[in-house]
Amino acid sequence: MELQKSFQEACQDKEFESFRQELGGDENVLMRYTSQLEDALEEKKHCEGCPSLSACKNKVWGYRLTPRLVKNKVDFSYDACPYERTRAKETAYQTYLYLFEMPEEIKRASLKEVYLDDKKRVPIMKFFQDFLKNYGPHSSQKGLYLYGSFGSGKTYLIAALFNELAKKKVESAIVYFPELLRKLKTSFLESNELFERVKKAPLLLLDDIGAENMTPWARDEILGSILQYRMQSHLPTFFTSNFNLEQLEKHLSMTTSGVDQVKARRIIERIKQLSIEQDLISSNRRN
Ligand code: ADP
Ligand code: MG
Repeated sequence: MELQKSFQEACQDKEFESFRQELGGDENVLMRYTSQLEDALEEKKHCEGCPSLSACKNKVWGYRLTPRLVKNKVDFSYDACPYERTRAKETAYQTYLYLFEMPEEIKRASLKEVYLDDKKRVPIMKFFQDFLKNYGPHSSQKGLYLYGSFGSGKTYLIAALFNELAKKKVESAIVYFPELLRKLKTSFLESNELFERVKKAPLLLLDDIGAENMTPWARDEILGSILQYRMQSHLPTFFTSNFNLEQLEKHLSMTTSGVDQVKARRIIERIKQLSIEQDLISSNRRN
């Protein structure tokens, strides 16, 4: 009786009445859901004339509580609104880029927005154009070893290239190299998921190589194996660093347990096989 009474009260409201008419079903069923139906109507009203996703007033942002009549009950679900569906479609490519200890904002890096005021970027953009044109699963292209001062936009540029390929469903990974070493230091490398992911990513950026504290193990077992695997599998590999290759070689030869020039040399040789050294020395873009 109570249920019926509050349902009938709700039906006094014209909008509620036409909402329930649209839904169909008879009173005996609908009266069990009066307050949920009122919520759903409220959300529907929010959607009407809504100008954009950012104006969303609903409980779950971009979604609307929606009733559906199923046999003799009503199911409620949260359905994405058209704005949310468009947003999801436009950003779907971002799932192809895996980030490890990198700021999420680089998922929005875009080649269209690269500043060209600085002539230093011209050869890099040319390289990218060729790279995009020739990229294929077995194209075994070289990546870039991009070095230069802090904040010059090295990471941004390569992220923008990866995003472009993400739109073609190419998977890639950007890993902050010093943190990768810290993370792997305390784990077994065999069957380590992160290590496997980094080795096998179709496109890889090792970001900020040279900023780490090198140990012989990190150099030879981690870095050495990643590079070795990627060379053998012809997987394009990019690097960013504050050091040029000569400086990096020095850095790699001096580890916590003394100097080893031969092993450092071997790493540098692999980096050279995998990438082309290119400088990007430019003003700081960080604000
Ligand atoms: P680096 O890796 O050389 O230290 P970053 O790639 O992190 O430099 O760039 C520094 C900052 O400048 C970042 O916040 C980045 O988003 C921004 N930035 C760099 N290049 C561009 C660009 N071409 N267009 C827009 N923003 C950029
Ligand atoms: Mg960087």
